[in-house]
Amino acid sequence: MDVVTIGETMVVLTPESSPLMRYAHSYSRKFGGAETNVAFGLTRLGHQVGWISKVGDDEFGKSLLSFVRGEGVDVSEVKLEKTAQTGLYFKEVRSGDNVRVQYYRKGSAASTMSPSDLNEAYIAKAKYLHITGITPALSESCYETIIRVIEIAKANGLKIVFDPNLRKKLWSEEQARKVLLEIAALADIILPGVDEGTFMFGETDPETLGQLFLDQGAQVVILKTGAKGAYYFTKDEMQFVPGFKVKTVIDPVGAGDGFAAGVISGLLDELPLEEVVKRANAVGALATQVVGDFEGLPDREELRQFMCEPTGEDI
Ligand code: ATP
Repeated sequence: MDVVTIGETMVVLTPESSPLMRYAHSYSRKFGGAETNVAFGLTRLGHQVGWISKVGDDEFGKSLLSFVRGEGVDVSEVKLEKTAQTGLYFKEVRSGDNVRVQYYRKGSAASTMSPSDLNEAYIAKAKYLHITGITPALSESCYETIIRVIEIAKANGLKIVFDPNLRKKLWSEEQARKVLLEIAALADIILPGVDEGTFMFGETDPETLGQLFLDQGAQVVILKTGAKGAYYFTKDEMQFVPGFKVKTVIDPVGAGDGFAAGVISGLLDELPLEEVVKRANAVGALATQVVGDFEGLPDREELRQFMCEPTGEDI
């Protein structure tokens, strides 16, 4: 196994007959979750990924599990929870990138995850652990689970990739800042957006933010600046890697998760950091080209074509 990720994936309902929930009487049903988006991005690029989670022992939960399994992700560590339901949310796409989300996830099956759900032998088989700042916001036991999975990863030599993925709807700003900083100090590779860095440190300058994350203990900081691209920072190096130009953004949601998949894929392929960030920029850009959070994530051939490389050998 290359990567283990842990977190909640939910049913997503999007109004169809009207873009507004208030007037819609029919909805399309999909599944959504940052960690499984990253997992799908990685499996499409040929990596082996396991997802740790809980879903309700209900029809939505079973359907979700089949779907994630169908995308090639190992779900052997996903538990069916009898005492809680699969979480769900509504996604109103009002226009363009004006997207509103309404959660029905409090007390969801995934929010009941606890450290005793973690199988150390399973996690130990992977090279990277991917975590986001969403999971610790779900409940106290989820927070404890994330702290424990970090301990397990460290004890077994996995590198920890942390995407803060700030969700202000899930917790108070004070609590979010405290926990995101705590986890950032434990991670090896951090993937914040500039806005998230600003939220965490109260600084806006990318170079200052990169340094602040490094001072906390990270080995690599990759700071996203939206369509412009991303900076990377290590203790010896700092560089900006420009993003790829796209004609039109069809759906911006999921670019960050695609970016994370690109980073981890590049690290697994042992590319130099500049190439890692270039690949991440490409996957992030491609994610904006198709409606849906993960549908646009590329396989190797699509990625190669997009990056205009003459052969697939370097990718
Ligand atoms: P998300 O909405 O998925 O949480 P995010 O805020 O974490 O996203 P962004 O900074 O929007 O992430 O995008 C991540 C990366 O995807 C960017 O650093 C860039 O490489 C690529 N990207 C995003 N939007 C565009 C765009 N319009 N054109 C080209 N590349 C883009």
